[in-house]
Amino acid sequence: MDIALKQVSYSYAAGTPFEKRALREVDLTIPSGSYQAIIGHTGSGKSTVLQHLNAILKPTEGTVKIGDAVIQAGQKNKQLKVVRQNVGIVFQFPEHQLFEETVEKDIMFGPMNFGVPEEEARIRAHELVGVLGLPDGVLQKSPFDLSGGQMRRVAIAGVLAMDPDVLVLDEPTAGLDPRGRKEIMNLFARLHEEKGLTTILVTHSMEDAARYADRIAIMHGGRCVLEGIPQEVFAQEELLRDYRLELPQSVQLQRKVEALFNVKFPELYLTEEL
Ligand code: ADP
Repeated sequence: MDIALKQVSYSYAAGTPFEKRALREVDLTIPSGSYQAIIGHTGSGKSTVLQHLNAILKPTEGTVKIGDAVIQAGQKNKQLKVVRQNVGIVFQFPEHQLFEETVEKDIMFGPMNFGVPEEEARIRAHELVGVLGLPDGVLQKSPFDLSGGQMRRVAIAGVLAMDPDVLVLDEPTAGLDPRGRKEIMNLFARLHEEKGLTTILVTHSMEDAARYADRIAIMHGGRCVLEGIPQEVFAQEELLRDYRLELPQSVQLQRKVEALFNVKFPELYLTEEL
């Protein structure tokens, strides 16, 4: 399902003395099946964009299209349920939202809440344990008896159990060690490739954007200031410097080699690992 933000502005506490304009005329199109990174410093508007992606927030001005649903200020939308079911959001530290007695119940909670029959929800929970590389027997355990990394996987399984078309990831590796980070990011890359899941990664990591995304949008001061394929975005070195964003290490290395030998390679080589 395609997602398109058209001239989206958003103000918190609109019409009060505390009004805070968080988004300004954001245009962003995310085609079905793509892997889009949204990058920016703290306060640039990433979380506010994210909350428009499944209509937690509605734009103050402009429109958000999610598949066939059009979300606008002041309009009731009958398709909100469909949107919420199809756009799964993995919030930062999703393990904080675990609450059931067992892992199985926690994974089944979302789909059952949306009317999926209990047996089908259970089948999904069992499948997802394998997909997420969780140990056998985890389903009958309390989520609170698991390690931090395992709890995060269970929380992610709970979102995937909804069988969404679009997966939105808000800093999904925050607080994990380098190995855990890589495992989780590779898992999302696999889901994107194998299931064709549209993936939207909200991050401040240029490295992750370079390595995994096929499109990058840069947020600054509530605006989407740059958008394109990684090669196009990383070619805008001056602009990125203005926004205090560092090029990924692989690109920095390439620039050093070019300077050393006084050559210019025709394209950027975004290596998986240095
Ligand atoms: P990011 O996710 O990039 O850190 P946010 O979308 O959280 O950025 O914030 C964008 C702007 O909106 C910031 O100036 C922030 O202070 C403000 N903001 C965020 N949430 C709220 C809120 N609930 N009430 C008022 N202002 C907010």
